[in-house]
Amino acid sequence: MSIQMLMPSKQPQVPFVDLGAQYRTIEGEIGEATSRVIQQSDFILGREVSLFEEEFAAFCEAKYAIGVDSGTSALELALRAYDIGPGDEVITAANSFIASALAISHAGARPILVDVDPSTYTVDVSAIEKAITPRTKAVIPVHLYGHPAHMNPIRELADKHGLVIIEDACQAHGTRYKGRRAGSLGHAAAFSFYPGKNLGAYGDGGIVVTNDRGIARRLEMLRNYGQKEKYQHLFRGYNRRLDTLQAAVLRVKLRYLEKWNAARRWNAVLYHKFLDGCGLLLPGEAPGAESVWHLYVIRAEQRDALKEHLISRGISASIHYPIPIHVQPAYLDLGYKKGDFPVTESCAHQVLSLPMYAEISQDQIEYVAKTIRNFLSDRKDNRLVSKTLAKGPSASA
Ligand SMILES: *Cc1c(COP(=O)(O)O)cnc(C)c1O
Repeated sequence: MSIQMLMPSKQPQVPFVDLGAQYRTIEGEIGEATSRVIQQSDFILGREVSLFEEEFAAFCEAKYAIGVDSGTSALELALRAYDIGPGDEVITAANSFIASALAISHAGARPILVDVDPSTYTVDVSAIEKAITPRTKAVIPVHLYGHPAHMNPIRELADKHGLVIIEDACQAHGTRYKGRRAGSLGHAAAFSFYPGKNLGAYGDGGIVVTNDRGIARRLEMLRNYGQKEKYQHLFRGYNRRLDTLQAAVLRVKLRYLEKWNAARRWNAVLYHKFLDGCGLLLPGEAPGAESVWHLYVIRAEQRDALKEHLISRGISASIHYPIPIHVQPAYLDLGYKKGDFPVTESCAHQVLSLPMYAEISQDQIEYVAKTIRNFLSDRKDNRLVSKTLAKGPSASA
């Protein structure tokens, strides 16, 4: 017997994301755009790539965008474009996806991890300051879950110490900080087009955004064998290009991104409305921050039991991230130990990402909230994380 048959039929199933639902709204346009590329056999650095780069740079209110093969590549190549490598240290958040650190390692530099601020889960600026040494060359603030990092104080620190800022905007397509878009808040910014991101390709993809013309030119060569003109190689570059087919898909989707992000913002408002006062810590927005709600992340002391409760009722909840970077086997050699980053570690035990995507319905959100409330009322005896963050999502979506 399938799980579906065990469920009362009127309960909605709630997937974590629903890329099929999104595809059905743009199927015709995707078909046209991809068949055009195939008919023209314009597969590598084709016209759609340069058009998408122009359009994405404009979306970010920045000058240049260079398409690459993933968000991880975007971070690594941005570091390389600034000549950051062996002997250098780059500071980033311990509470992130591992790619933020991997990109630093792959560029040959040493990742220096720091803890995050407990209200936004983005990097703690005072911790950055303490981690700066004469070897520090750059900082990678991560706009985690779609919420911007505290960029003004980070910029002040970076200016004072001569550091390069590379935004990890892989979860933050369209995020604003004090009115300005992610992508123009540092020296360069890396975005991912992994399918589940707010702007996702039908495969891997990424892009670097910058206002620096010289860095943009270097990145164009870095991603394409270090080539300036055909068969003339100025340095040992890579093959890390964004596929024309993916660029064609992304051009179609970019036209909907504002609308999809507004829907996510509205969905965050609904979650807040239906969960407010339930006793769990709900996500909010810091003053001046406009999140694009890549993820809607709550905190609960009984997180694992709550997750099981939701999954058994047809709701896909997920954990971002269950094992912090500093205790991953891949990074044991950095010498960190359990206890080094208390906020990050408590997040790893308590965070739970609820289903979030533009097409999720109000009924589905209400069902998720109701299922959480049922779980909580069964466990009144348990102590729960019981504060609401500074300010709920603003309803201005
Ligand atoms: C997705 C992601 C990346 C890596 O992007 P890929 O395209 O998967 O390589 C890097 N940093 C963060 C914060 C991400 O969420």
